[in-house]
Amino acid sequence: METIEIETVIIGAGQAGLATGYHLQRRGRPYVILDANSRLGDNWRRQWDTLKLYSPAQYDSLPGLPFPARKWTYPGKDQVGDYLDTYARHFELPVTLETRVQTLEREDEQYVVTTDRGRYRCDNVVVATGRFGRTPQVPAIPDQLDPAILQLHSSEYRRPGQLRGGQVLVVGASHSGTDIAFEVAETHLTILAGRDCGQIPPRLESRRMRLVFPMLLVAWRHIVTRSGAAACLRVLATGGGPDTGGEVRVPVGDDYRNPRRASHVRRLDVSRRGAGRGARR
Ligand SMILES: Cc1cc2nc3c(=O)[nH]c(=O)nc-3n(C[C@H](O)[C@H](O)[C@H](O)COP(=O)(O)OP(=O)(O)OC[C@H]3O[C@@H](n4cnc5c(N)ncnc54)[C@H](O)[C@@H]3O)c2cc1C
Repeated sequence: METIEIETVIIGAGQAGLATGYHLQRRGRPYVILDANSRLGDNWRRQWDTLKLYSPAQYDSLPGLPFPARKWTYPGKDQVGDYLDTYARHFELPVTLETRVQTLEREDEQYVVTTDRGRYRCDNVVVATGRFGRTPQVPAIPDQLDPAILQLHSSEYRRPGQLRGGQVLVVGASHSGTDIAFEVAETHLTILAGRDCGQIPPRLESRRMRLVFPMLLVAWRHIVTRSGAAACLRVLATGGGPDTGGEVRVPVGDDYRNPRRASHVRRLDVSRRGAGRGARR
């Protein structure tokens, strides 16, 4: 197998890998970025149809190239995927696609990166493989459920039309689970189960958010990165949201994006139909 010698190998061409490449390029350092995808941004394109960022366009830029969308709009998944692709082309970053890294080993004073298409020997490795779109973590319990129940991991979910009629249980209440639960609640009685991650106080597309978002950014960048700050984020994020006892989070009240959906979710509020009580035992 051919071995390529190079100073730095970056594994992963998501936001982190591309931004690292940009800075190395500006310093004239030799490097290559390896990515398993066949097209840059496919991690994003593979997500559900309606996925939008939580951060407004003016905060979504990588270094050196503004995100091509109006201020205070929230880009969709394909726009993000296309931006990553454009970014790499714009700066002519050396990205090698369709190359999955299989092992990373130390050999003397260097590293050896073995991929399904060859080996690299280098002085530095930047692991920028992220968590987004990686192998699903599915607990053992689904095997014990009735096979008649349709089960999908969020990485397989695209739109409500994939689901059968009847009730839906969404397990996991962070970004993906909450987004999906709100969408599915338009057409199905939906229960969202998971720890309470709090709620962003105003709706994302509201005028109030324009005041709040910069403050949240200051908190994320300067407070939650220091010890003991997680509690602070919780206070900020929960601000006025319903107290669900921390076990089952039921999205009541404002949908952060779409008031029409919010009213629908309120109508299907499962905490008033027993699911919340059951989960709290
Ligand atoms: C629903 C949802 C909404 C989000 N909204 C926002 C938002 O509004 N704003 C925001 O900033 N963030 C948001 N995020 C988070 C954001 O997606 C991640 O923080 C971001 O993608 C991390 O970038 P990354 O470069 O570290 O990793 P990734 O984007 O995951 O990129 C990793 C890359 O590594 C490649 N890779 C992995 N393993 C290998 C391997 N073995 N060999 C070769 N290549 C490999 C993958 O193909 C991929 O291209 C959201 C996430 C979700 C799920």
